Amino acid sequence: MTAQLIDGKLIAQQVRAGVAEAVARRVLEGFAKPTLATVLVGDRVDSATYVNAKQKACAELGMGSVSYHLPAEISQEELEKLIKSLNRSKKVHGILVQLPLPSHLNEERVLQLISIEKDVDGFSPINIGRLAQKGREPLFVPCTPFGSIYLLEQAGVKIEGANAVVLGRSNIVGMPAALLLIGKNATVTVCHSRTKDLPGVVRQADILIAAIGKTEMVRGDWIKPGAAVIDVGINSKPDASKKSGYRLVGDVNFDEAKEVAGFITPVPGGVGPMTIAMLMKNTLRAAELQQK
Ligand code: NDP
Repeated sequence: MTAQLIDGKLIAQQVRAGVAEAVARRVLEGFAKPTLATVLVGDRVDSATYVNAKQKACAELGMGSVSYHLPAEISQEELEKLIKSLNRSKKVHGILVQLPLPSHLNEERVLQLISIEKDVDGFSPINIGRLAQKGREPLFVPCTPFGSIYLLEQAGVKIEGANAVVLGRSNIVGMPAALLLIGKNATVTVCHSRTKDLPGVVRQADILIAAIGKTEMVRGDWIKPGAAVIDVGINSKPDASKKSGYRLVGDVNFDEAKEVAGFITPVPGGVGPMTIAMLMKNTLRAAELQQK
């Protein structure tokens, strides 16, 4: 292996320890615990798992959480009523609506309704719009891209002036990751399902962020020697040696890429743990902003 491993698990633990320390300090100073409201609509098992993990993290870091589990058939009006009441609540600092919502609900309208001071997921159009504009600062940045860029910075990768390639243009990962890299003065190419000659484009990348959800699609010979590779993808691959019958892998063929890259994140243990760590950081920031 030539690449330096970027240990997301360790870096996430450090972020969490910093948040826990700041929370304890705030409580000693007499402020309320930073508190996250999670809103889960319906019974998707994966969504429920994510929400539980977020609540558990709040408890571990000394933060508060309140959970709202709503039936799948809830109306747009009722959901909006809840968001409005959470916006007004002095006890709640951050609001997280677990996506995706059932298809009869208008996700855009719901995200738009979350007060930007409480938008700890960073998905409100105002926060995303600010991220896209020169000289404007979003109050919050979406957690997975925020964590991805944080990993690059912690590893000491120079972003300014680098050629960065982002694979994927989703609202939650690819596009905000590209905007963050532009904000840090990288030259950015965003690829998607209709990009021509993907291997050729990726070979130009000093920094590669892969977020396409395709099992080990990026091969070792696509990677520029010395490049920093951040693998956001989480895919399950059949593996008879595992009790579950599968194991998690990324969008990058790790075994091949680690022989060429300068830096690489593993899956699992790379970007994954960063997402919740950054959500906790955002929730603390929300409490600090609201105090001001
Ligand atoms: P989406 O499905 O929303 O977006 C996938 C993107 O990849 C789209 O822009 C799509 O292009 C592009 N794409 C798909 N196939 C190809 C292809 N063959 N070549 C080039 N581009 C392609 O996924 P997400 O952004 O939500 O997630 C991406 C991955 O990241 C998933 O594996 C997901 O599980 C993982 N993830 C991990 C998180 C973490 O905490 N680590 C958090 C969130 C996601 P087009 O726009 O043209 O359709």
